[in-house]
Amino acid sequence: MLEDKKQESTSLEKLGEFGLIDHLTNSFTIDQKSTIKGIGDDAAVLSFDNKKTVVTTDLLIEGVHFDLSYMPLKHLGYKAVMVNLSDVYAMNAKATQITVSIAVSNRFPLEAIEELYAGIALATEKYKVDLVGGDTTSSTKGLLISITAIGEVDESSITYRKGAKVNDLLVVSGDLGGAYMGLQVLEREKEVFKVNPNSQPDLEPYSYIVERQLKPEARKDIAALLQVLGVSPTSMIDISDGLSSEILHLCKQSEVGCNLFEDKIPLDPTVISACEEFKIDSTMVALNGGEDYELLFTVDQKDFEKIKGNPNLSIIGHMTDVLEGAHLITRENTKIELTAQGWNSFTS
Ligand code: ADP
Ligand code: MG
Repeated sequence: MLEDKKQESTSLEKLGEFGLIDHLTNSFTIDQKSTIKGIGDDAAVLSFDNKKTVVTTDLLIEGVHFDLSYMPLKHLGYKAVMVNLSDVYAMNAKATQITVSIAVSNRFPLEAIEELYAGIALATEKYKVDLVGGDTTSSTKGLLISITAIGEVDESSITYRKGAKVNDLLVVSGDLGGAYMGLQVLEREKEVFKVNPNSQPDLEPYSYIVERQLKPEARKDIAALLQVLGVSPTSMIDISDGLSSEILHLCKQSEVGCNLFEDKIPLDPTVISACEEFKIDSTMVALNGGEDYELLFTVDQKDFEKIKGNPNLSIIGHMTDVLEGAHLITRENTKIELTAQGWNSFTS
């Protein structure tokens, strides 16, 4: 089994920069009426009539933000788009366009970059955003991918991190900790594979959490859901670094405190069982795990009835006076100060 799998391998040099750009982007279509000109000129041209425009960028670097030994390139492309759309949705805006910039070393054949773009294409189709530009360059070593997302929103609907009031309810979409536990499973399988390359991992029992790590979905649906429920969030943020750190952002910007209730934190059963297996505290995972890309927001107390019992939303706490600080109220009813141990790319 010494021979590598024979796969198509076309060197990027053969195509050249312009050939590559054309090859990667020619199948993308333009669907948003706000896109006047997409790929193919010196700049894209957009028009948002009387809406406000939101813009957000993320940079992902191989070895820092992703590991290609377990992250398939197609998933990477998809996830890179999700990370950005999530930031647009966290402003309560509609995502409309993205640009994609890549730097690739000649270690990658054309087929690898095609895979990356297949993931990007899937994301743009599913989330109805136009790819309107980008940049393509070479790198000496790894792969870099930077995506910018653009969105539109009525001025009155823009939701900042600032805006939460004392007594507002703290609400989160979906469930937490899955992406982190998925990563633990993948890291473990990577170690097993190093020792025994013929091992066939059975990831089936972990499919939900592995998918949360490899193929997260941005919560496009939440803005629409809140509109149907007749609820205007007072502040909002997306959960990229972990619940704890995001709560502290809302508190700081809104100048309020917070009581978070441990028993209200939504956890999928797969997360709970994986935490037991890995001997990790599930609350710590939800607080500090990160990469869940759920939305965390506050609503006025009077909206309690509208939110209560909704399967997509969990009320996990309430905002307090800033002097009270931000705390976790444990199942044993002890009060622990929340600290921002959130995932941080500057800590080793
Ligand atoms: P320029 O020299 O003005 O930077 P480029 O030749 O880099 O132009 O790009 C030509 C067109 O292709 C532009 O519309 C640019 O936005 C788009 N483009 C370049 N690279 C990418 C990419 N990786 N993904 C999507 N669009 C790209
Ligand atoms: Mg360029």
